[in-house]
Amino acid sequence: MQTSRVNLLGLTRDELESWFALAGEKSCRASQVMKWLYHEDADDFGCMANISRNVRELLKREAEISMPEILDTCHSRDGTVKWLLRLHDGEAIETVYIPERDRGTLCVSSQVGCVLDCAFCATGREGFSRNLRASEIVAQFRRVRRELGYVRGGHRIITNVVLMGMGEPLLNYRNVVAAARILMDDFGPGLSRHRITLSTSGLVPQIDRLSVDCPVALAVSLHAPDDELRNRLVPINRKYNIAKLLATCWRYSARDGDREVTFEYALMRDVNDSLEHADALAGLLVNRPAKINLIPFNPYPGADFLRPSNAVMQDFQFALRSRGLVTTMRKTRGEDISAACGQLKGRVTDRTRIRLGDRSFGLAVHS
Ligand code: SAH
Ligand code: SF4
Repeated sequence: MQTSRVNLLGLTRDELESWFALAGEKSCRASQVMKWLYHEDADDFGCMANISRNVRELLKREAEISMPEILDTCHSRDGTVKWLLRLHDGEAIETVYIPERDRGTLCVSSQVGCVLDCAFCATGREGFSRNLRASEIVAQFRRVRRELGYVRGGHRIITNVVLMGMGEPLLNYRNVVAAARILMDDFGPGLSRHRITLSTSGLVPQIDRLSVDCPVALAVSLHAPDDELRNRLVPINRKYNIAKLLATCWRYSARDGDREVTFEYALMRDVNDSLEHADALAGLLVNRPAKINLIPFNPYPGADFLRPSNAVMQDFQFALRSRGLVTTMRKTRGEDISAACGQLKGRVTDRTRIRLGDRSFGLAVHS
């Protein structure tokens, strides 16, 4: 049940300071409370020993620390873990953790569903239900960290956060930026902005705004080297075509000391996987601050596309590399549990009538 209390997990430090100021309290309470929330993982106000009784009473009356419930967890043989989280109104979202040798990446959702309806995307097919609140984005991190623990062998277990789960983060701009600020705060989880990656299908004005408000690492879902094909695959291209999108990306990069933008390119059999496509893609990105992340298309029931053969995908990657482009191929991870979650989804949907993303795991992994 959602109450009228403010969920502290959705407040940036500035907002929390203002909240305390409005209540006639010292603004330094904000950093103290954030430390309890994110460094001590506190769930109730009673344990906040350095906060006076009056302030704790105020917090109990006016605020809450509300986290989504875990509906189910799927563990893959390769270490990937996927959680199904239930939000206060019964909607459900997925969050995925992908461990790698030198980092642990958490892939979080930003919306329930998506309006943009890319031709190949299961989330798009589901339609759009609602934006996530900042607290619901931050709570995915906090919930998973509690499950996995904070550090192992002296290293953080979650080192990176990618906004590549369900939804288009730039269509939930305010809440996504607030969540990123909280995740970056030294009194919060303290992630560096380079360890937060936002993936967008290419909303030009919002990318420009982001470069000023919160310049996290940028990933852009390109998927096609020409407007004709991209109009079909990523319909928002009809509004912001490739030329406009790339100009914005180079501006973003220039404002951030020429940091590279990652271009995601989901390889789909006989659609965008020929050597001519690779050549045209190279033409757009060569000698630019760009790297390419090829994603083998992730099939799902009812999908209209297929994954190319490994040989075709490798040739595509080789063609880009031979033009001097830094090109990685995303490893498909957690495929064994994505099937398990498909079954899980059926079960859960019957029980609670929630709507779920059915996109499988391979999307979330940087190789
Ligand atoms: N809405 C944002 C972020 C979420 S999608 C965006 O579109 O960028 C994360 C990535 O997965 C995007 O590059 C998206 O195009 C890609 N994707 C979606 N469905 C896919 C599928 N079935 N197979 C491979 N990649 C997919
Ligand atoms: Fe939305 Fe991204 Fe899926 Fe396109 S690929 S429908 S923008 S979630």
